[in-house]
Amino acid sequence: MNNMTLRIDQSLLELLKEELTQAKKIILTSHYNPDGDAIGSVLGLYHVLKQQGLNAEMVSPNDFPTFLSWLPDASNILIFSKDKLRVEQTFGDADLVICLDFNGYKRVEGMSYLLEVTKAKRVLIDHHPEPESPFDIKFSFTEVSSTAELVYEIASQLFGDNAINYDSAVSIFTGIMTDTGSFSYACSRERTFEIAGKLIAKGIKVEDIQSNVYNNFSENRMKLLGFSLAERMKVFPEFKAAYIWLTKNDLKKFKYQIGDTEGFVNYPLSINGINFSVLFTENDSYVKVSLRSRGNFPANEFSRKYYNGGGHKNAAGGKSFVSMDETLKQFEELLKIHSNELNA
Ligand code: 5GP
Ligand code: MN
Repeated sequence: MNNMTLRIDQSLLELLKEELTQAKKIILTSHYNPDGDAIGSVLGLYHVLKQQGLNAEMVSPNDFPTFLSWLPDASNILIFSKDKLRVEQTFGDADLVICLDFNGYKRVEGMSYLLEVTKAKRVLIDHHPEPESPFDIKFSFTEVSSTAELVYEIASQLFGDNAINYDSAVSIFTGIMTDTGSFSYACSRERTFEIAGKLIAKGIKVEDIQSNVYNNFSENRMKLLGFSLAERMKVFPEFKAAYIWLTKNDLKKFKYQIGDTEGFVNYPLSINGINFSVLFTENDSYVKVSLRSRGNFPANEFSRKYYNGGGHKNAAGGKSFVSMDETLKQFEELLKIHSNELNA
């Protein structure tokens, strides 16, 4: 079963095809603080639709990290936080809005009113559990590694494997690669590797993609990482847990750029015996909480309960609206409360 093409309801695919071909303008969008899967999925589908002669525009709620800016046509993505008027106009005459890699309108933050009021049909293409907002056509599969993998499945079933051109393949591969930590988690489906193989057959260079994404950091970012691990990490072996906290001042000191802390939360999980890791990052409005777990501890439930967030079982996010000090104090109490599950 595992190696089979994803089984997608044929009538749903036909419905999507009809909507795509009838639409005069299609919007492809993703979540706030987009990661490699968000941008890779948007661009992956964009290149497919463009090749089909369809009129698609890409919109992101805010800017994306520079380690994704090399992706083909990334510069065509409209950024809501920079150009609100243009994005509002784009939504104004769209017939179809495709939401990729998120499943609740609130995940686009300040842009959510556009999803709420749009007259366009809303399509969901996502791999997170339990869609929260209404969508007209839903492709929600949690068994895939990433939304980018799902984009491959949908696009190839709609238009055939030939519809995935080189630019699309590079984007989709980047999405799968970043969401699986370079094929190290969330990729126990044989099919994920089969799709990676099909993408490589399009001529993409895996080494180059790795290098563009992971060997592209600034000196400041590397120093911020070193500082985070040396000065801002607290380990609790008794709870198999650890956290890192970064204040606004810390970020300023290292000339923080969007995307610089991407991946930091994974480091404590490399410590022997640590199964739960949390990164607290302070900004002007709240403390951003990023959670990762290994095994059975549900990071998403923890985030839903305490941080008004959600996500996957092993990778989730949320927000804390009290001070950093208060947030950390509360978190240490929560570790005690959840000691049994953390040690299970
Ligand atoms: P990250 O820690 O990288 O921001 O997010 C990890 C995972 O949790 C991603 O799959 C992301 O989409 C999801 N996530 C992050 N923040 C939130 C949030 O506030 N609400 C929900 N529902 N999911 C989130
Ligand atoms: Mn994803």
